Amino acid sequence: MSGDIDDRLEEIRNEGLYRRMRCVSGPQGPRVLLDGKPVLLLCSNNYLGLADHPRVREAAAEAAMRYGAGSGASRLISGNMTIHRRLEEQLADFKRSEAALLFGSGYLANAGVVSTLAREGDVVFSDALNHASIIDGCRLSRAETFVYEHCDTDHLEWGLRQAQGRGSLIVTDGVFSMDGDVAPLERIVELGKRYDARVMVDEAHGTGAIGPDGRGAVAEAGLEDEVDLIVGTLGKALGSYGAYVCCDGQVAKYLINTARTLIFSTALSPPAVAAAMAALELLREQPRRVEKLERNALVLRESLADQGLAVPEARTPIVPVIVGDAGEAVRASERALEKGIFAQAIRPPTVSAGSSRLRLTVMASHTPTELRDAAHVVAGCLPAAAREGRVVRTADRDRDAAPARVFDGLRDAA
Ligand code: PLP
Repeated sequence: MSGDIDDRLEEIRNEGLYRRMRCVSGPQGPRVLLDGKPVLLLCSNNYLGLADHPRVREAAAEAAMRYGAGSGASRLISGNMTIHRRLEEQLADFKRSEAALLFGSGYLANAGVVSTLAREGDVVFSDALNHASIIDGCRLSRAETFVYEHCDTDHLEWGLRQAQGRGSLIVTDGVFSMDGDVAPLERIVELGKRYDARVMVDEAHGTGAIGPDGRGAVAEAGLEDEVDLIVGTLGKALGSYGAYVCCDGQVAKYLINTARTLIFSTALSPPAVAAAMAALELLREQPRRVEKLERNALVLRESLADQGLAVPEARTPIVPVIVGDAGEAVRASERALEKGIFAQAIRPPTVSAGSSRLRLTVMASHTPTELRDAAHVVAGCLPAAAREGRVVRTADRDRDAAPARVFDGLRDAA
């Protein structure tokens, strides 16, 4: 048995995909101690710098004293506390939805919601670059999954036509986690209406990062009343841990009764809930944090472009620098680390083979000078092909190389 695991680990090593966890001491600020070495943190999702904000920390500490460290049970047993309900009301108000329902994490929310909204005989339509938790939700659902090419609404429409009314759900990231681009939500919503499929948008990287007052990609597109379900996380811009689903009251009741990742998992801990509540309050009081984040994202993108790198056009804080080969990406990340920049290498299976990258993420708490200097360092750490823009980007590569996917064969494609 253990030989089996040794062999698999060896395979992972040989493919250049071996991972090890580095360790940050202290809070997730713009500068951290990583395995004892001071570095600029350029790969955290603490976009607004709220995870280490004094008010957020105090709220968590107070909640621990008042309510205890843990919730003790799932929400349907005894774990549902007044503090959960309060945060749900505040999130629903912020997102302008009828109801909000807390989940243990974004992974649990996506896996639970997709797997209960789509059932055997249905078809789920999922963007090729959706997050792994959506993919796993599709797998759990027993529905067929049609994976449409990234952001390709013609391909999506083709699939919807083939489904002949079996299409139950279209699901997409709002902001794509590894590419930082934004889904074509207007057209997706239009197709959902035309083909009578619900639309679900994962705003894990949209909430707090883009849109009016940081309300996300859906709000930016003016579609808050049109999208059926929005998933958001508390662990990224909101600086805590956990997630929520915004939907109408009826769907919320349905999820409470059917979503296994809600029913069979311990409710969020009171300190995590209180921290998210304080972060949400700060976001609403200080929308300028979002503007600062947007400005910083622009500074990094422009500084990388000044170094001659091909930077995708977008306004989000996720900036991919495509390297191509997995081993090269790791070596580039290690070289950057030696020079004091923590820019994590992202490899398969998180991204497709040949599109390994440094995924840089900006925080509102970075200074423009830090970002300009970091761009210079990162550019100097890349292999020549990446520096000269000779690596084909993921979506283009997939579109060129992959044959049009056949409808019936798509169950495994996710
Ligand atoms: N959705 C997207 C797009 C993500 O990037 C992530 C996390 O990285 C998740 C969902 C999962 O959220 P969580 O980390 O809260 O489980």
